Amino acid sequence: MDFLFGPYSSLILLIFVASLLIQGYLSRTYGKWSRIANPRQLTGAQVARMMLDENGLHHIPVQAVPGQLSDHYDPVRKTVNLSQGNYAVPSVSAMAVAAHEVGHALQDKVRMPALVLRGRLAVPLSLGMNLAPLLLLAGVFLKLTGLIWVGVLLFGAALLFHLITLPVEFDASRRALAYLDSRGLNGGPETANGARTVLTAAALTYVAGFAMALAQLLNVLGIARSQSD
Ligand SMILES: [Zn+2]
Repeated sequence: MDFLFGPYSSLILLIFVASLLIQGYLSRTYGKWSRIANPRQLTGAQVARMMLDENGLHHIPVQAVPGQLSDHYDPVRKTVNLSQGNYAVPSVSAMAVAAHEVGHALQDKVRMPALVLRGRLAVPLSLGMNLAPLLLLAGVFLKLTGLIWVGVLLFGAALLFHLITLPVEFDASRRALAYLDSRGLNGGPETANGARTVLTAAALTYVAGFAMALAQLLNVLGIARSQSD
């Protein structure tokens, strides 16, 4: 928690609790569909390789990385990275997550503006997001209004980052599900629901991240206003 005071602190607490519930829902959904094999028994690595190759991305390797749900596409090294629970496992979850990560590789191929922008802003914005609470606190205690507003500006930048993330993540899941459907990898209606459910649960965590950033910005704006009076 960044701030336990300010006009929106109870809203922040509410979103924090909601985020925990969403995280729990994602774990349960992912866990459930990790125990169910996808119809063609393809591992995450195989699904990713197929989808990459069919889209002319033969040069992009698929690698196993440690950690749970540490799956990501690396736009700098141009690699699809799958966690061990997805890389060599032929589950519905593994298939859905692998296709989602390749969705990001496809975005990179067409230079999707939101993805490019997120890539450029990632490093400076994450630095700003870490500094923001410190600057704001220092500003409040030292009674430096200018410093407080710099902190507020950085909270605004954090919100911008979460806002850009939403269309990038939704689009990657849309591409994943379209591919799985077009190749019949979802099988019957039961399995199709599985891949969609897993990706929807993952998308909810990004919505929660955005809601938290918005509540924090409103909160620090309230703090800044009261300190500026
Ligand atoms: Zn993603």
